[in-house]
Amino acid sequence: MAHELNVSKANAAVRRNVSLETDEIWQARVDLAACLRMAARLGLEEGICNHFSAVVPGHPDLFIVNRLGWAFQEATASSLLICDFEGNVVAGDGVPEATAFYIHARLQKMAPRVGAAFHTHMPNATALSMVEGEPLVWAGQTALKFYGRVAVDENYNGLALDESEGDRIAAVLGDKDILFMKNHGVMVCAPNIAEAWDDLYYLERAAEVQLKAMGSGRKLLPVLPHVAAEAARQMREGDPESARMHLASIRRVLDREAPDYRD
Ligand SMILES: [Zn+2]
Repeated sequence: MAHELNVSKANAAVRRNVSLETDEIWQARVDLAACLRMAARLGLEEGICNHFSAVVPGHPDLFIVNRLGWAFQEATASSLLICDFEGNVVAGDGVPEATAFYIHARLQKMAPRVGAAFHTHMPNATALSMVEGEPLVWAGQTALKFYGRVAVDENYNGLALDESEGDRIAAVLGDKDILFMKNHGVMVCAPNIAEAWDDLYYLERAAEVQLKAMGSGRKLLPVLPHVAAEAARQMREGDPESARMHLASIRRVLDREAPDYRD
């Protein structure tokens, strides 16, 4: 399931004439490691197959991503890789997973507004990618956070093992934030790590409760579109600050219970 990116080992040693060891970049590493760890704790990961990436602060042509072969629960700040869009690992040991590289590099190259992109096969949202019709029904308040923000890739095409698949995915995403990849999983795209985490977490919760409601066998009761739109607007207003606090909260939990994520 997890494929090694076919980059030349010579390229893997590319070093730039700029420091990638600033405080700001380190904090981004720590934040991303925290998200990977908490995602593992909540069962949002799948083995060694899923990937989170974030643009390197101050370097819009570089991104941080988890390394191939490491489960989310093993992630540490220093274990994360910094890659360029051509497939070179410019900092860190190891290589990214191949589909991680092709999807994230092309997405972040084609959609500069995306500061962080989290891809998972988290079970509840993925289950909704496997059924007919629109994945989310606007019947629960948590789901309304995503009203008007969802794109659906209807054309499952096997694994993303070249640039064209990453480009196709970026095009389907368009100006939306959440991509349901039919028969596969989800991609959450956000301006920064905190907002990607916040959306990933609540997306899975919205999917979970929707599946529970669907499992009742009774008809779901969507809210009226104008109410959904207004609730979505209200939530979006508070989202950046709420997401920042959410990330700070998971970092406090991990600081106490698994502080080695900061290593
Ligand atoms: Zn996947």
